[in-house]
Amino acid sequence: MRVFATCMECQKETGHPSFEPFMVPYYEERIAYIDCSRGHRSAIMLQGQKFEVLMEEGAKALLAGFTQGACSTFASALERTYEFSLRVFMRKLGVNAEKFEAMFKEMAKMSERQFGAFMAIYLIEMGKPYAPNKKITEFRNNVIHKGLIPTPEEAKRFCSEVYSVIFEIAADLRRAMPDPVNQAVMCDLQERSKKIAPDVPRATMCGGAFFNLASCGNKVDFCEALVALEEWGRAIEGAIPVMTALHRSGGEKEGL
Ligand SMILES: [Zn+2]
Repeated sequence: MRVFATCMECQKETGHPSFEPFMVPYYEERIAYIDCSRGHRSAIMLQGQKFEVLMEEGAKALLAGFTQGACSTFASALERTYEFSLRVFMRKLGVNAEKFEAMFKEMAKMSERQFGAFMAIYLIEMGKPYAPNKKITEFRNNVIHKGLIPTPEEAKRFCSEVYSVIFEIAADLRRAMPDPVNQAVMCDLQERSKKIAPDVPRATMCGGAFFNLASCGNKVDFCEALVALEEWGRAIEGAIPVMTALHRSGGEKEGL
């Protein structure tokens, strides 16, 4: 995955935004490093949770025609949504974070255990049984365990169904327990920031281009969300050459 960013250190030094554009990669830790032409090395921490990032990756795979990858990535996003929900529930219940991690270690590699825990605590906290979509489970098993390669139509239907489920869970959590949601996000950021060397300056970037837990403006309709992602991609593609030209002209003036 890649994120569009500029150097915040340049902005601090010059007092205006840098035009030098970067598309920097990030992986599991959701940390991207920028090495700018003025010699700064800085880190960008994405606030987005794993399920948000996985949904964006799945959506990009779908747009590029990689139907199998899109479906397996959306299936992973759903599993990480259950994990995130568990973390939020534990915050709401005031469970000690270390004790939770000790418990979660025993279920980290077994998504069925995580789902079982999610179902039980969802009932307690939300006051209603969680009704899993059986079509999602069946299709997911065919993709993951049988290597099914879906048609674009099948893939779009599956990803759209998963998107709706995640959208609803995220909306329920934000509505019912906004503070625990924020605490879980902040705790995750704090833990990941420890992976950055102490002398490297860092900035936080909130919100992905596809789904943003912190925003109330997420598209309800999956197809509309896909279109918005495509438009965002085109806007970035269009901005990069313009910014590069501005950066070069500015750099020449400054004698760089
Ligand atoms: Zn810089």
